[in-house]
Amino acid sequence: MSALSELQSHLAEVKALSEAAAVLGWDQQTYMPTGGAVSRAAQITALTRVVHQKATSAEMAGLLERAEAAGAELDTDSDDAAYLRMARRDFDKISKLPESLVAEMSRVTTLAHGAWALARAQSDYAGFAPWLTQILELSRQAADHLGHDGERYDALLDQYEPGMKTAEVRAMFESIKPALVALVRKISALGPSPVDDSVLKRSFDEEGQRQFGESVIRAIGFDWTRGRQDRAVHPFCTSFGRSDVRITTRFDKNFLPMALFGSIHETGHALYEQGIAERYAGNILCDGTSLGFHESQSRLWENLVGRSRPFWQKFYPALQSQFPEPLKDIDGEAFYRAINKVEPTLIRVEADEVTYNLHILLRFEIEQDLLSGKLSVADAPAAWNAKMSEYFGLTPPNDAQGILQDVHWSGGMIGYFPTYSIGNLLSVQLFEKANSDLGGQISEQIAAGEMRPLLDWLRTNVHQWGRKYPPTELVRRIVGGPLDPAPYLAYLEKKFGNIYTR
Ligand code: ZN
Repeated sequence: MSALSELQSHLAEVKALSEAAAVLGWDQQTYMPTGGAVSRAAQITALTRVVHQKATSAEMAGLLERAEAAGAELDTDSDDAAYLRMARRDFDKISKLPESLVAEMSRVTTLAHGAWALARAQSDYAGFAPWLTQILELSRQAADHLGHDGERYDALLDQYEPGMKTAEVRAMFESIKPALVALVRKISALGPSPVDDSVLKRSFDEEGQRQFGESVIRAIGFDWTRGRQDRAVHPFCTSFGRSDVRITTRFDKNFLPMALFGSIHETGHALYEQGIAERYAGNILCDGTSLGFHESQSRLWENLVGRSRPFWQKFYPALQSQFPEPLKDIDGEAFYRAINKVEPTLIRVEADEVTYNLHILLRFEIEQDLLSGKLSVADAPAAWNAKMSEYFGLTPPNDAQGILQDVHWSGGMIGYFPTYSIGNLLSVQLFEKANSDLGGQISEQIAAGEMRPLLDWLRTNVHQWGRKYPPTELVRRIVGGPLDPAPYLAYLEKKFGNIYTR
């Protein structure tokens, strides 16, 4: 057995154990009774410890060194060379984190999830605050172990968006914030909204929503033999390998977009996972290259496809026959406008494309201040509400609709939010490159229900590579330049200018 094969078989076992932990995490959010929380925390923590031991052992260090020595002559663009680079990156990172810290983070976040869900249901921030305090302290320790140049946030961000610095995220927001704020003001200045979205709040029976949603995600390419969809409090996508990808959704009888666009969004993530090259199955390259890239896929399908006019030219008749009563007096164009209404709102996951990134900016600013200690956990709800008022002109009536709305911090995911905005920007760059490569025909293809050309383009250019190329390199390979806010802002101006000046 070659040194590389020995390393690969060792890391395949580590990956299998991580996937087993992910199955437990999926079950926790879908089917586990609340009573299972404490034993589930013990189970996941035990597996996390084993994964950490195997991934950092002296045996692992030796296997990696031998494989690197044997692979010194490899072509740098080969899969094997990419594998060795990724194995080294993973090993160096995880080895910096003590097992006790990893286990404690796992235990605390598994319990904090339940505490957060309860606090949110009761709008009781005080019930979650002690957990947030613990998670911030563990995150500071993790950042210090991982290493940074005085900016702890860098170390956390790098776990989700390899190679990205906090300063670059700040610059990204500075480059989009003025245009977004101006666009929101311009639309608000039109007075009572020229776009009516009340149709979306009519009564849509849940079974009909499920059937229609499944038909849409099948049409865009979700492979049901290698994935399934279940219900969860918060929609998410998780993968136990490229051939078992789980997505979740949630239904609101009186708000059609929740399940529909939630399902399309999670399908975008699932298509990425299902589209990774088969030769990477079970291997450490079998994953998305970054969360920003992952989000570019979900946002591309949700917004550039799912909230586009051509898409509803194709699917509106089917939606209308699924729901003849609530949609009887609404034509396709009115529906298209309704799902694109721009309106400052309290909840991120329901935000329109124009206001969405301001929600992310708010979280990015607050979590940096929490991490640095500039903002105390006790004062965080007031800081949140002050920013809501500054950016949106709104004050949350309670913390459930304010600082408690998102699951991320309870899961220890501090430094994660910027990946949503990175994904938004990237989604437009990728879509425009796909359109130009496909002869400018994407709109016609989507209107005809032909999703395959776009999916195949994404498979070829993005999905198949998994983690082979780091995100900064992958974006350059595809579009010939770095992440760029200009196409994104131009897209918003054009789309919403059209909707709001008609
Ligand atoms: Zn997403």
